[in-house]
Amino acid sequence: MSHPIYIGGHWREGRGDVIVSRFPADDSINAELRAASLEDVEDAVTAADAAWRDPGWAQRLPHQRAEVLYRVSDLIMQQLDTLSRLQTRDNGKPLSETRALVASAAGTARYMAAACETLEGELPTRRSAEFMTFSEYEPLGVIAAITPWNSPIASDMQKVAPALAGGNAVVLKPAEATPLMALKLAELFEQAGLPKGLLSVLPGRGSVIGDALVRHPKVRKISFTGGTSTGRHLAHIAADKLIGTSLELGGKSPTIVCKSADVEQAVRGIAYGIFSSGGQACIAGSRLFIHERQYNAVMARLLEVTSGLRVGHPETDGVHIGPLINTAHRDSVSAYVDQARQEGGKVLIGGQAPDDPDLAGGSYYLPTIIEGLPANSQVCREEIFGPVLVALKYKDEADLIRQANDSVYGLAAGIWTQDYRQALTLARQLEAGTIWINTYKKFAISTPFGGFKESGLGREKGRQGIQAYMQQKSIYLGLDSTPMGWSQ
Ligand code: NAP
Repeated sequence: MSHPIYIGGHWREGRGDVIVSRFPADDSINAELRAASLEDVEDAVTAADAAWRDPGWAQRLPHQRAEVLYRVSDLIMQQLDTLSRLQTRDNGKPLSETRALVASAAGTARYMAAACETLEGELPTRRSAEFMTFSEYEPLGVIAAITPWNSPIASDMQKVAPALAGGNAVVLKPAEATPLMALKLAELFEQAGLPKGLLSVLPGRGSVIGDALVRHPKVRKISFTGGTSTGRHLAHIAADKLIGTSLELGGKSPTIVCKSADVEQAVRGIAYGIFSSGGQACIAGSRLFIHERQYNAVMARLLEVTSGLRVGHPETDGVHIGPLINTAHRDSVSAYVDQARQEGGKVLIGGQAPDDPDLAGGSYYLPTIIEGLPANSQVCREEIFGPVLVALKYKDEADLIRQANDSVYGLAAGIWTQDYRQALTLARQLEAGTIWINTYKKFAISTPFGGFKESGLGREKGRQGIQAYMQQKSIYLGLDSTPMGWSQ
């Protein structure tokens, strides 16, 4: 039977094409469902528009809205194991990673609930004896949230929780490849008592359903996580409608090994930064810069560590790298590695699918390290979104900063050094929204996240994560009882 979708607070079959959710480990079918149709988009947005205005979600006091989010957080933690297994089946990430993602979604809901309860308006300094002013945050209305397939529950919650906390309604369009987690999330919000209509989940093709959703006149903000070219397209639509966007886009992030780095710590962090999630992470540290004098020593140890990584079935304990999302994506990763070979790169490890017959049914690819490429090669410049690391040398700090910043992207960067003065000097010069020093790919929901340059616009997380879904209204309160008049 076809899995229902969630429209305006009701579970029903979509009226669009059939979508098949597959387990990337062996291509088996998780579920079949009918995608949303254009009529379903209309129904979801209409319900959302009615729900945030009436009977008063937006007017509910912040601590009352927060209660729903606290309950969702609790429900997620109670079902941590089931949800992690579902997410592993949906996109193939190892269970150790999906457990962390599911727990992070619970943390996001709890944090946004607390932030919503404590969000304050402003009481600016008075500029007149005749009146005082204050300003309050109000919701925007209907939010279109569009998410990719690589971390479904975490990226869905990063949009849904702050938007609902801010008094809005959300229509969420998850990636066609991973519809199940978003639908599960809707189920949890329903159980937590979210009034009907405030959340709809519309699986379907981005260029059809996503496009119709963001163009809908009642949608007042686009919150998007995905590729830069899709983000640019959505920004054009938002510009035409004069609505806001939050765009969390792609990356080609540098990781830097300085002369004073603890090599063992650096190498393990570098391997984790690029190869966890099979490199299918916007923040993957995919360009490695090593000081030329240390290059050979660092690379020797990095190759040892990489050769010890276990590629395997994502439900098996101890596996570091599961399959990529599907074979089409693996073909794209493999084509980049072929391109690297043509551009003069030397593949030091990996560069192919594993030959283990037990993995033949899944879309696996070995962790791959390439050296000898010119910095302006396609493989050094473009986001591959797979387990592929390019290693480059630098001579001095000026050379390093020039090379590291020579990218259209600016999402993140990593610095490995024991010299904190140098770390801060580099951090301030790197063009990236997040800098990790002697750590990588760690997150705090309290800390703003977003990209410089073509890696994005706006910030998610932190207290401003809610304000991004609200607008300020300033109110002037007259204090002078004498009639108003024109000054002479
Ligand atoms: P994508 O192709 O841009 O798709 C992302 C989402 O947008 C999907 O739900 C997709 O739907 C939808 N979409 C595609 N075309 C659309 C259109 N014309 N109108 C409206 N929606 C549309 O990206 P992806 O391949 O799924 O994800 C990988 C990318 O996401 C990478 O570039 C990665 O760096 C980026 N990412 C960024 C962050 C961050 O926080 N900065 C986090 C994670 C991932 P369908 O897939 O159903 O067609």
